[in-house]
Amino acid sequence: RAKAQGRNRFCFFADDMDDEVRNRNRLEVDLRRALETGEGLVVHYQPQMSCDGRCVTGLEALVRWQHPMLGLLPPSQFLSVADECGLSVRIDDWVLEHTCQVMERLPEVPVAVNLSPAQFYTGDLFERVTDIVRRHGVDPARIELEITERVLLEDNASSHGALRRLREAGFRIALDDFGTGYSSLSYLRRFRVDKIKIDQSFVRHLDHSQEASCIVRAIVSLGQAMGLDVTAEGVETEDQLRYLALLGCDQMQGYLFSPPVPEPGLTALGLTTMRQAMEAAFPAVESG
Ligand code: C2E
Ligand code: MG
Ligand code: MG
Ligand code: MG
Repeated sequence: RAKAQGRNRFCFFADDMDDEVRNRNRLEVDLRRALETGEGLVVHYQPQMSCDGRCVTGLEALVRWQHPMLGLLPPSQFLSVADECGLSVRIDDWVLEHTCQVMERLPEVPVAVNLSPAQFYTGDLFERVTDIVRRHGVDPARIELEITERVLLEDNASSHGALRRLREAGFRIALDDFGTGYSSLSYLRRFRVDKIKIDQSFVRHLDHSQEASCIVRAIVSLGQAMGLDVTAEGVETEDQLRYLALLGCDQMQGYLFSPPVPEPGLTALGLTTMRQAMEAAFPAVESG
């Protein structure tokens, strides 16, 4: 059948493949250079709000890449390449380093950073993380390490050990994209974490899906029963905010309050946007 469709089709396909491979290789070369020179990678910070909306409880550091030709790239456009060529650990380390520098200027605010699953195969995760943080004199208690369910589920003794030691050293551990990874909850019995982050795919459908709202309610009760902080991701509407606040979700993060912003924008733009969102959602509440 493939033959019957003719030679041209195959040629097109081969050309596309070539392009893809070329683009990927190009990205890899550029990414290595960016990591070497420290030019191009940037971190944006997205605020996390308390559920009464009165204060910023923390920030999440999210990497971007200002590519010389392609413009500002979101993580979805380069993290998988980074992963394939073994660069994701270096990106994470760079983000942590950068975040610690910012934290010296922004006293008190806790900041969350994302750890790629590859971090857990390095064997020296604990040493690298504690070293970076110590060099900047940042209190580990102000740093939250976001991991995905996959990391806890994989039977990797050294990564489990690293996580325990990090937590003992004072770092907080958050489970990112909660509910999307695996249906097994047994790891919650074996590993202590501090926070679960309800994945935005559930939050997005809250307004119109009974199922989504049941799942979110169940995750919030699970978190509460286990004494974990529960953060909702991807909060975009006032209805979502009100429902999540009603359920007793502890923190919220989403475009409703602020998109991720570069550091200089944090104090100015970030905070006014959030104030406005809260006033619109809770008109009865005096803003303080
Ligand atoms: P994540 O850790 O779950 O981060 C949340 C993502 O949702 C971010 O996308 C954020 O910009 C986006 N977001 C926030 N609020 C809203 C909203 O209201 N609506 C919608 N639709 N999206 C919202 P971003 O920055 O593109 O990052 C995507 C993913 O890339 C992150 O998901 C995280 O898994 C990964 N990532 C980002 N930075 C790093 C990093 O430094 N290291 C590692 N290993 N992964 C990172
Ligand atoms: Mg995250
Ligand atoms: Mg997430
Ligand atoms: Mg994610």
